[in-house]
Amino acid sequence: MAQQTKFISIISLIFISLYLSISLPSVAAAKLDTDWHTYSNYQDIITTNLHLDLRVDFDKKQLVGSVQHQIKRINPKVDQLILDTRDLDVHKTEVYDGTQWSTTQFTLSERDPVRGSKLTITLPSSAKSVKIFYNSRPEASGLQWLKPIQTAGKKHPFMFSQSQAIHARSWIPIQDTPAMRVTYTATVKTDPSIRPIMAAKNDPKWNDEGVYSFEMPQAIPTYLIAIAAGNIHYKKMSKQTAIYSEPEYLESAAYEFSDTQAMIEATEKLYGPYRWTDYDLLILPPSFPFGGMENPRLSFITPTVIAGDKSLVNLIAHELAHSWSGNLVTNATWRDLWINEGFTSYVENRIMEEVFGKKRAIMEQALAIQDLKKEVVDLPEGDTILHVSIEGRDPDDAFSGVPYTKGQMFLMFLEEKFGRQNFDKFLRGYFDKYAFKSIDTDNFLIYLDQHLLSKYPNKVSKEEVNNWIKQPMLPANAPNPTSDAFNQVQKNMDAWLANDLSVDRIPSKSWTVHEWLYFLNNLPKDISLDRLKELDQQFMLTQSTNNEIAHAWLLINIKKNNSAVDARLEDYMVSIGRRKLIVPLYRALLDDSSRHNFVKKVYAKARPGYHPLAQGTIDGLFKKAKSK
Ligand SMILES: [Zn+2]
Repeated sequence: MAQQTKFISIISLIFISLYLSISLPSVAAAKLDTDWHTYSNYQDIITTNLHLDLRVDFDKKQLVGSVQHQIKRINPKVDQLILDTRDLDVHKTEVYDGTQWSTTQFTLSERDPVRGSKLTITLPSSAKSVKIFYNSRPEASGLQWLKPIQTAGKKHPFMFSQSQAIHARSWIPIQDTPAMRVTYTATVKTDPSIRPIMAAKNDPKWNDEGVYSFEMPQAIPTYLIAIAAGNIHYKKMSKQTAIYSEPEYLESAAYEFSDTQAMIEATEKLYGPYRWTDYDLLILPPSFPFGGMENPRLSFITPTVIAGDKSLVNLIAHELAHSWSGNLVTNATWRDLWINEGFTSYVENRIMEEVFGKKRAIMEQALAIQDLKKEVVDLPEGDTILHVSIEGRDPDDAFSGVPYTKGQMFLMFLEEKFGRQNFDKFLRGYFDKYAFKSIDTDNFLIYLDQHLLSKYPNKVSKEEVNNWIKQPMLPANAPNPTSDAFNQVQKNMDAWLANDLSVDRIPSKSWTVHEWLYFLNNLPKDISLDRLKELDQQFMLTQSTNNEIAHAWLLINIKKNNSAVDARLEDYMVSIGRRKLIVPLYRALLDDSSRHNFVKKVYAKARPGYHPLAQGTIDGLFKKAKSK
């Protein structure tokens, strides 16, 4: 059931819809759920366009400048603009009445640990725009500032933003809710030896003055506003795709991700036009805490997926899929994250099937589902619900495998029941209908009922859908894809374990990374150290340069308390900051009290190079281990 929102008149709804593309509920639809994670009064007044004027100050680790909000009143009586901020220094606020700027009052409330500080700006009735002069602080949760030593080239500093879920407010005073959309322009100044870039329209050329302009003509939710700066160069890959990165990654990334154009074309065939003109990739330094971030026109990508053999490019398919689910059709609140990530994981897999074939797509499904089944065992039951309750909590807590893989499985279930053709038609219609709009779970359920359940009756009941969306864990009839390739791997593993097959006869030469991951992830828990040594001698797993294989192998060895891999483990944990790859290693080490000295030593060395988000997660693990 949707929470009650403030009364909004029909006229206002039309305004919101026209100017901001918040979804206009159809007759049967409910009002959008209220976003608990914003202080902003977005139901009374909205920002339609932003202009950022920022200087990147690497010495002080600050963005300094101003943001101008073009405003539109929904409630004509509104006399305040309330914005979200976190750890910002606000110097001055001004309002524009159509002829001149004048100073106006503001107050900054005490800091809430989740939502940050409410910025309340007095608004005369004549105000058309509001300008805020401010700077971010070095501890901004949405920015990471890297020393030259932490980059590939080691000569220039690097900085980048990560605004999802609610970190945009740590570098822009803003109405920070995914229910809202804005267009923006920006002027960014840096030292001329550095190049800034934003997820927007831009000129790829460097200039001598260090002053760059950006424009985002499509309205986007604020969590997609993104900036980076560093020794960033450019290499075009195809008519719509290019790589931005330090020169050190330019060639290898262009090779690794050369199928991106084919992925765009495959997705367009399935789900309609790509609406963002270009799709470029920014390769970040290895401390980037995520695999990728789907910033529109310019996804931010970890270098840990440059494997040399395109084995991990489903990550690109994932970020690209967000150009339809998430960036185009957005979750209205962070409770509805599954609408974003679940659809994206499903679309990602369909792209992989189109470009790389069914065998690989099924292997990737099976691996993801195995991971989810392992993960849910340790989650609080409430967090295994798709329509999760996160009021009072940091929305970053919602980013488990549940919205991704359980969400994907729900769509696989619908595809299975309604048939691919009908389901593809439904999805395409959904992306068209809600393009550039936000939708919450209850409104999605109404749409689903109208366009699928009732249209093809007696295939799926409302109760079944309710089980998927509002009940914990996985329904009994959840899809369970079986991969013939994995069955073969399992046979070989069983034979080797039973000593019916010698290690050098395991037919691994033809194995892909996926088959290797299946093999490693499914080794028996009680396997002996001698058998692990046998594998390592034969396949050099400790030295694997594939970061996913290395991760799986190191994790097994931690659980077996095999200190022979410690040097490699330390190197891995210090050089990579991607949470998915390092957090399970810390967790496993901290589970074993005999490894505490080792893990403390590693973390002391690694922590300064990690992103604030990764630091926060791992600090939490240490705290928990201490209190045990
Ligand atoms: Zn995603």
